[in-house]
Amino acid sequence: MGTTLIKDAALLTLDEKDRFIERGSILIDGNSILAVGEVKQKADKTIDGRRFLAMPGLINAHTHTPGAFSAGTQDAVSHPAFMWLNQADTSGRTQREVYVSAMLNATQMLLAGVTTSIDHFPAQNFGPEDVSAAVEAYRDSRMRTVLGLRIFDDDFGDIFPRDKPLPSDLQRDLERIRPLPPRPLAETREILEDSIRRYHRPHGRLSVFPAPTNPVRCTDALLTMCREIAERYDVGIHTHLLESEVQTTLAQSRYGCTMVQHLERLGLLSSRLSCAHTIWIEQDDIDRLAENGVVVVHNPESNLKIGTGVAPVARMLASGVSVAIGTDGSVTNDNLVLHEAIRLAAMLGRTGERERAKWITARQALGMATEGGAKAVQMASTLGRLQPGFRADIALYDLDTPTWTPFNDPVQQMVFAETGSSVHTVLVDGEVVVEGGRVTAFDSKAIIAEAKPMLRAIRERNRDLYSFARRMTEIFP
Ligand SMILES: [Zn+2]
Repeated sequence: MGTTLIKDAALLTLDEKDRFIERGSILIDGNSILAVGEVKQKADKTIDGRRFLAMPGLINAHTHTPGAFSAGTQDAVSHPAFMWLNQADTSGRTQREVYVSAMLNATQMLLAGVTTSIDHFPAQNFGPEDVSAAVEAYRDSRMRTVLGLRIFDDDFGDIFPRDKPLPSDLQRDLERIRPLPPRPLAETREILEDSIRRYHRPHGRLSVFPAPTNPVRCTDALLTMCREIAERYDVGIHTHLLESEVQTTLAQSRYGCTMVQHLERLGLLSSRLSCAHTIWIEQDDIDRLAENGVVVVHNPESNLKIGTGVAPVARMLASGVSVAIGTDGSVTNDNLVLHEAIRLAAMLGRTGERERAKWITARQALGMATEGGAKAVQMASTLGRLQPGFRADIALYDLDTPTWTPFNDPVQQMVFAETGSSVHTVLVDGEVVVEGGRVTAFDSKAIIAEAKPMLRAIRERNRDLYSFARRMTEIFP
């Protein structure tokens, strides 16, 4: 690929000295950053950086591409209701739909400065051909992606009524449609290991992690298997954790302890583990996460949209927990613009906290999307900084925009003013994938055109399941 020089840009390095360089250059060799600051060397290709602010590409540490067609489909519904409708809108997709969903989400993320994401892939009935379709999309999108294979082998007890049986007509349909059939453990192991062996290439742009949908929907055998596989192949583990209140009570009644304590007993608490949401958690479990280096992935917009709660992120940071940030999927966060989640992360806890020293600062919120995300994807020593030796994942923000005029403070304007709309050029592994605010890596217009009728086709195909899901939402309005 040769060398590239981004010349004379403003550099928000987020490096170990946290330097802001008013005018400097970045020399890229292949997929890595070779030098930052004053660079005398010439390169094969030069990008004039004078109107740009360069920053490490953002890391969206929790999303679900299967939900890519779901923007604007749900408002004011409960967590179980949203889960049921989401099953109906994401089940039984063709491989082309799998591919187009991933490409559509990649388009949205790249255009708003996101270079890496964790895709918590489908929960139901996916086969090797679906994995292969998603992998093809990630390759074509040129984004860096963690494919979190979303698995389970137990009931979704948190989205069924707990105190009374289902009405008999729904029970009959449940048995007929079997919307969330658990897969035998041996099969899950096979698809996991096979996918890791085939596709896990962290030195390329794709990693594959085991990703239980939520430990409360998994047996101990499955969770232990995830730990063993993660250790054997040196990969991370990604999961939802304690997103809704009922998940805490289910854990207590199943294990006689908290979910975090249970995961500790199973040996899952380590820096390999990243947990989305983690809202319903007490201080001693926060301390457990900190001691074991577990990464929490904060999803403030999703949590607010479906009313699951406010994660105690300021306390987590003060306790030493590593915090990353995510958008969650399009059904609970309709635009996947990580800048909005970053801004919300900084502001969310402020009204309830009188001690301003305990507020999350703009710099802390930005760190969730860079350093925190890098930990979640197991690339802490190579992602999230403009620093020699780090990967050349870089976003250039156009300073000739209202957002950046006048230019007062790089961090505060990046967090409180920027919406992603000033993103001009994006590089992943030193390769330009967005230029002039347009995706250059693939034909995004064709993807958008192809995506338009797909949700209607899926609903038509899944009409039985869709009608079942609609009736379940009446139980959980
Ligand atoms: Zn999620």
